[in-house]
Amino acid sequence: MTEKGLLLATTNQGKIKELKARLKSLPLGIFSLHDLHLTQVFPEKGQTFLANARGKSLYYSQYWKNLTLAEDSGIEIDHLKGAPGVYSSRFAGPNATDEVNLQKVLRLLDGIPPDKRKARFVSCMVLSRRGQIITEIQEHANGLITPQKRGQGGFGYDPIFFYPPLDKTFAELSPDEKNAVSHRGRAMDKLYAFLLDYLT
Ligand code: IMP
Repeated sequence: MTEKGLLLATTNQGKIKELKARLKSLPLGIFSLHDLHLTQVFPEKGQTFLANARGKSLYYSQYWKNLTLAEDSGIEIDHLKGAPGVYSSRFAGPNATDEVNLQKVLRLLDGIPPDKRKARFVSCMVLSRRGQIITEIQEHANGLITPQKRGQGGFGYDPIFFYPPLDKTFAELSPDEKNAVSHRGRAMDKLYAFLLDYLT
């Protein structure tokens, strides 16, 4: 099953959904860590998105015959000096849910005026094969943190990430609308173009 497979080195359902949808037309099966049934997990200790993405990609590529893609992503908020950054998934603690993390951001930004609520989502992808990095991609999307949640779609911090060009939060966009402008969507476009070329 791994001959033509691309392993997504993540268990995050939001990411898996977005990546599978974008890459589905490639002549490549798409798998995730759920299919690998590994008991050991890569400890994310890097200080940058790139360090974490490289670490995850190279680590899991030892267990997979073909391509391994790791993505490290998160949100950087100017007023919080770039936090939560690489700690986005565990901002409120090691087992915090998306909701608890997001509420912590809203609390920390309570009363802060709109012009001081700038934030950016960052996506860093590293594609490797059996211990060798093949390509690295980094993209971002700029926005503002809303005072309250808005919208039902997406995951993570999407309900509080307002994207001014579309006048909506990421959670108010359809999956296709989000992919067209998001950090991961832009990175996936580059990855898709790279893979098309690489596979032929
Ligand atoms: P990672 O799995 O360590 O890369 O953690 C990424 C975390 O950043 C997620 O758990 C979310 O909290 C946040 N994040 C990354 N991308 C997005 C997005 O597209 N929307 C909302 N939150 C995101």
